[in-house]
Amino acid sequence: MRALIAVLPGDGVGPEVTAQAVRVLRELGERRGHEFRFREGLIGGVAIDQQGDPLPAETRALVSEADAVLLGAVGGPRWSDPSALVRPEQGLLALRGLLGVFANLRPVHVHPALAESAPLKTELLANVDILFVRELTGGLYFGAKTHERDSAGRSVSASDLCVYTALEVERVVRVAATIARGRRRHVLSVDKSNVLATSRLWREVTSRVMRDEFPDVTLEHALVDSFAMQLLQAPARYDVVVTENLFGDILTDEAAVLAGSIGVLPSASIGEQPLTGHRRGLYEPIHGSAPDISGRGIANPAGTILSAALLLRHSFGLEHEAAAIECAVSDAISAGWRTADCVAAGAASCSTAQFGDAVLARITET
Ligand code: NAD
Repeated sequence: MRALIAVLPGDGVGPEVTAQAVRVLRELGERRGHEFRFREGLIGGVAIDQQGDPLPAETRALVSEADAVLLGAVGGPRWSDPSALVRPEQGLLALRGLLGVFANLRPVHVHPALAESAPLKTELLANVDILFVRELTGGLYFGAKTHERDSAGRSVSASDLCVYTALEVERVVRVAATIARGRRRHVLSVDKSNVLATSRLWREVTSRVMRDEFPDVTLEHALVDSFAMQLLQAPARYDVVVTENLFGDILTDEAAVLAGSIGVLPSASIGEQPLTGHRRGLYEPIHGSAPDISGRGIANPAGTILSAALLLRHSFGLEHEAAAIECAVSDAISAGWRTADCVAAGAASCSTAQFGDAVLARITET
């Protein structure tokens, strides 16, 4: 296969972790006969500094031409003035809009060797393997907003409008159910249908799509408040969890705690599956730019390397190659390779590049 991958390292540790993911993709491409080409573009704070725009025209052109996008992270204290008109996160939102991605996938898999780094009892973490599918472009975050002030400038009232259309629910539920078919064939849909009209629509549409199009996949519903507790009490029970934007934002951060370190978790944001060609997607670790450790070569690149595996799976359909990367990361951790975020206090840790070396050494020919 031939493909162009846009690499947007961004800010803070972004360039350090994306460099390792690109090494792994290059090695895998060479070993398995794929021609992956890589072109870098600016995004976030570094793009504001150099071009005054968090998603400059060159980057827009690059991602429009590319078959998939690998991103590091954006933001940092340098650009965090809340009154600034141009902010790094605007680049990320614009990028998602440009790519037309609407489903955010966050797999949460707890490596047994890292379970001790998590705050939950290790026995609760055995066999945890959840895929969250979060709706990414609708709901409260994108509805009309108001903020009313009195004559003295004090806040009086504010509102955020939450709107969902049946179409928005249908397409994200189809993504979740299609992926569930390749897993344990169980979808949990999370809503707040006892209170919210949008959640009642969510539940009705989800039930219809699953009944009519995915009768082979079991559907269960849960209310978000009760699921937030269940996720910590019995995380191994869940397979695919689909939910709306706001609930997904909160629940996926809660679930990240299960994995032991924020540095090991990947994410994918994908759009419609085209009839021919590659599915567009944006692949990035779930962590931010980690300004407290950037420039020291100690960031954990596992989340970004695993995001590269998701890129191969969801944009290029290269399931075996994706699994090869996932196995290599898992084997490297099992063999004791740990960056500082994953070691017990006082124990020795490896650098970002050494972890990358350990993964590369475990990429096999077949
Ligand atoms: P963060 O994820 O950057 O860091 C939180 C903590 O986790 C820090 O202690 C950091 O050192 C650690 N950490 C993060 N990634 C790590 C890695 N790969 N290896 C080891 N340790 C790691 O979150 P934050 O501190 O709240 O945000 C920092 C900046 O990143 C902010 O400007 C924020 O807006 C931005 N941010 C960007 C994204 C994104 O680009 N998608 C996401 C979240 C936050």
